[in-house]
Amino acid sequence: MAINVKNDLLKKDEKYVWHAMKGCNENGASLLITEADGAWITDADGNKYLDGMSGLWCVNVGYGRQELAEAAYEQLKTMPYVPMSNTHEPAINLAEKLNEWLEDDYVIFFSNSGSEANETAFKIARQYHQQNGEGGRYKFISRYRAYHGNSMGALAATGQAQRKFRYEPLGQGFIHVSPPDVYRSPYSGSLEAIGQAYADEIDRAITWEFNETVAGVIMEPIITGGGVIVPPENYLPRVKEICERHGVLLIIDEVICGFGRTGKKFGHMNYGIKPDIVTMAKGLTSAYLPLSATAVKRGIFERFKETEDYNRFRHVNTFGGNPSACALALKNLEIMENERLIERSAELGEKLANEMAILKEHPNVGDIRSKGLLMGIELVENKQTKKPASLKVVNQVIASCKDKGLIISKNGDTVAGFNNIITLSPPLSMTDDDFAFLVKTLKESFENI
Ligand code: PMP
Repeated sequence: MAINVKNDLLKKDEKYVWHAMKGCNENGASLLITEADGAWITDADGNKYLDGMSGLWCVNVGYGRQELAEAAYEQLKTMPYVPMSNTHEPAINLAEKLNEWLEDDYVIFFSNSGSEANETAFKIARQYHQQNGEGGRYKFISRYRAYHGNSMGALAATGQAQRKFRYEPLGQGFIHVSPPDVYRSPYSGSLEAIGQAYADEIDRAITWEFNETVAGVIMEPIITGGGVIVPPENYLPRVKEICERHGVLLIIDEVICGFGRTGKKFGHMNYGIKPDIVTMAKGLTSAYLPLSATAVKRGIFERFKETEDYNRFRHVNTFGGNPSACALALKNLEIMENERLIERSAELGEKLANEMAILKEHPNVGDIRSKGLLMGIELVENKQTKKPASLKVVNQVIASCKDKGLIISKNGDTVAGFNNIITLSPPLSMTDDDFAFLVKTLKESFENI
């Protein structure tokens, strides 16, 4: 792009566009991205970067997929819109496909974003209990450090004060317990003992709140945005058992962990549980178009059919289940199946964990956690005290990667005093050469600090 065109665009950007977050340029400015292909994005100066975050953890099949563009275009030409009070072929086929991917019997409600998928889940859970004559169940338990979205309910479920304190009061009835963080844990003993102790916090919270007031528990299989917190293996099965014992629904937020990110179709499949409700977005369309879904076990859905028609589920969104987005999502899932991207994520994820293990010897690396192509590297100032590394050091690694052509990110919680976890979430479709570049660049960047 010509320099004057670029400068003019950036000037207008500064004047007219309100950016959600700071960009990844040195001064916090955004990169002007003009093209993207495979795992790579190109800026207006022609610089190429391997997108080690798949955008915002979402472009799972990589960029430049013509067949996705064509699927959406063909659908736009024939029939661009149907409100979901009616129905259409792409939505029907996609719901059937998602049911197959979930390996159990789920009914699908479509929306547009991860936040909406979670809001939908909360409303379904509350009304489900009302249908059962348990209208007193309205509370939800979630974990500190988790992120579940930006709307007033999803933000209330979120456990990061940094994102919340300016906008409170939020939705009512959200209670938080500890994230299952093994590295920084008040509990000791075997991994299993730690997993059990964390799950039992949920048991206690439900009991102390009075189980007849609790509608659901919401959690990601692995906390992503809060710093890739991989739980002990027994944690989720125990949480499921606790929920069942108390008559509470388990909502699993697969907005990031779904669609192969953790080496399985959905993150919860690493732990052998069957959630009552599964929410999903991002990787559903690889973010080529907005679409999200709330998958609900058939038994829950059936209770809604028993009510008077106008009392069924009073929840609608104009754009949910957009035909082009559904057609594109179907093609996206077909790509994942044909190219065996779930298996690829598992294989590359294992290789990545092995390659990065050497970094554990680095004086500033406290912990490395991963599952599939999702990784968090926790930086510390001191390995004994585990004092979080300063933002300066974290930014140094990120800047060094960027200088060498690799985009990575950082996560944590600034209010709680740490923002020290380097995160990685590259496209599942990256080539062997891309993978080698990512590993080499990351290792080199650590050599500089
Ligand atoms: N849940 C999780 C786990 C997320 O990471 C996000 C977004 N990063 C959301 C929900 C909200 O999704 P959206 O931004 O599409 O509303």
